[in-house]
Amino acid sequence: MEPPNLPPLYPSQPRGLARQTGFYPETPRPASLIVSQPVSIIPKRIVPKNIVVTGTEFTFQVGDITLRDAARLRQILMAEIPAMAIDCVEIYENTTILQDEFLAQRIGLIPLTSSNISQLPFSRGCDCHCPGKLLSECMKCSIILNLKIIGKKEGFVNVTSRDIIPENLNYQVKPVEYTIFDGTVPVYILLVRIQMGQELDVRCIAKKGTGAEHAKFSSVAGPVILNKTKTGDFIFSVGMTGALSPKELLSELVLIYSREKLIL
Ligand SMILES: [Zn+2]
Repeated sequence: MEPPNLPPLYPSQPRGLARQTGFYPETPRPASLIVSQPVSIIPKRIVPKNIVVTGTEFTFQVGDITLRDAARLRQILMAEIPAMAIDCVEIYENTTILQDEFLAQRIGLIPLTSSNISQLPFSRGCDCHCPGKLLSECMKCSIILNLKIIGKKEGFVNVTSRDIIPENLNYQVKPVEYTIFDGTVPVYILLVRIQMGQELDVRCIAKKGTGAEHAKFSSVAGPVILNKTKTGDFIFSVGMTGALSPKELLSELVLIYSREKLIL
């Protein structure tokens, strides 16, 4: 049976009323859209200033940027500045109360000094094809550190990040030493407490990475954009893990940001 002739649900508009969008060949372009100058592409530039370091945090200011640029700078700080972290742990002996997995996770989160790693390749871009082999086989993109300790006296002994010893200091990669309390006594990260006879024999393979891969590669903690100053500069507050100094963090920030191009 034929459907009844109902009026169309969306009647088409008469041609004369249709809205015109875009520019047709015969339509002259407004003078404001005619580009008289050639497009220039320049690197983005920032100059961090008023750097104030207080304990494990520092603040700095950047002027002549938009809120979007400020958010981008925060993103670079968190996710794109390279740092070292222990990425693989080979456990040969562990008679402590901590399970292997728990211990490996604690070791992986220890910040490592990363000031001199510009020449060290990222393992993800290395030609060693690490994923198919034992990670420790590649000497190009790996730094080896060892944790060997045996409980030799009564009572508990603290095993800390200080006991993780680099095999060599080619790139000066070693656990960060903190002086956060009174500024004189070094503080180390506690891994586990052992008693007499308990033993740890662990080989750690550190790799170079960025916070975008895993938070353990991030050398900052919670960068925040604070208020603007009266002159319109953005104020940033950044917590540090100690892997890089404020000066190193800012020079990496300027370098990465300047690789992005500004189209005028
Ligand atoms: Zn490699």
